[in-house]
Amino acid sequence: MISKTQLITLFLFVILFVSKSNAQITATTDCLKTQSIHIEDLVMSSDSFIQTNLPTINAPERKVKKILLENYNFLKNSFSNKDIIKNNVVEQELNAIVDNIIEANPKLKDKKFNMLYATEYVANASSLGNNIFYIYPGLFEILDNDQQLTFILCHEIAHQVLKHFQYSIEESIRLEKTDLTNESSLNLFRNKRELEINADAFGFELYSNLNYQEAEAIKALEHLKDSDSILYSKNIDIKEQFNFKDYPFKRFWINKKEQLLKIKKYKSNYRNLDSLRTHPNVDTRISAIKKINIPPLQQINTKVSKQHLTKIKEWQDANYLCILKDSNRYDLHLFFALEKHYLNPKNIFASEVIASTLFNIYKAKKEKQFSKFIPPPNAFASNTSFLELKLFLKNTEAREIRKIGLWFCNSIEEKSNTLIKIQEKFKRLDK
Ligand SMILES: [Zn+2]
Repeated sequence: MISKTQLITLFLFVILFVSKSNAQITATTDCLKTQSIHIEDLVMSSDSFIQTNLPTINAPERKVKKILLENYNFLKNSFSNKDIIKNNVVEQELNAIVDNIIEANPKLKDKKFNMLYATEYVANASSLGNNIFYIYPGLFEILDNDQQLTFILCHEIAHQVLKHFQYSIEESIRLEKTDLTNESSLNLFRNKRELEINADAFGFELYSNLNYQEAEAIKALEHLKDSDSILYSKNIDIKEQFNFKDYPFKRFWINKKEQLLKIKKYKSNYRNLDSLRTHPNVDTRISAIKKINIPPLQQINTKVSKQHLTKIKEWQDANYLCILKDSNRYDLHLFFALEKHYLNPKNIFASEVIASTLFNIYKAKKEKQFSKFIPPPNAFASNTSFLELKLFLKNTEAREIRKIGLWFCNSIEEKSNTLIKIQEKFKRLDK
């Protein structure tokens, strides 16, 4: 039995909790706790990170150290911001594939690769050296089977084995001296192209040793080619979803402002060694792979399996909204909740996320913290419906977001307690 004092304490606690009206709010549905990852688990201290790489890089020591330290801090921040998280389900499935690759390729024996889950919804994979790889959620969505995923991982491993990380640091030091003239950017482009083709070739060799079919490797690349139009474009139309009878959508909310669409310069991107989708174009890569002569195989493993990819996709589908909750990316969070809501308007969790995210965006605007939670678009997330949402968030004023939030809550017929609370918060702001 709960005693009277306990009851009063509990009551007070509830009151206190509810009245803390300015704190960031989140949807209530049980979310699996994402495990944060600490850089020390993977690469030890910044000193050892630098010491491991320094001897293999052929450039002035002071400059190399500076870049390595930047890289280390970049990793560290990505972990603490939860842009990259540790996830046992995804890791386990990816490791199973990596184990197969190593088993078929004895030269990789004794290597340990860290496959981490990045939270930004793009179809990509990348690496920062030190056997650390990030795989992005969109990649799992565009691939069909384990063989295709295997090829992508082989490509990433190839970058690592071929020391492209080290090479790209040397390259960026060489470029520091020059302004980024047409000629030097052309060279950078050419070198980068070459690295990608080399990683494909070596990756394809690793892949072929599993006796998988060439066709699946090529399909993986073809999917990357299509991915820009697939990601972010499923079922979102904010013009409809934020159009209420008593508060209609306003066209100027999605008027373009030039500076928003500018993307980061290529030169600053050297840190991100790999980008599956940028250069060279996928068609060039496919024809390069087709030219590779691999020795006739004993037997071609024609059976296509999906078990690992399916498990990852199922996990992702069930948890992605929760992951975003921790990542403080309001734009992505809103986007995916809008999509879930569109597919099933009765999905109460999605409605809670939309309402709470709008509330948090309102707060961020009020507190002039907008860019902390909603970064400018980057080169890999250029799809129109996502850009439209970002324009909308940028163009609207706090009071407009407040009204949209309130009308959105009003439009949900069967409200959960959380939704009612958020609705009340919006109402109180109104006064
Ligand atoms: Zn690559």
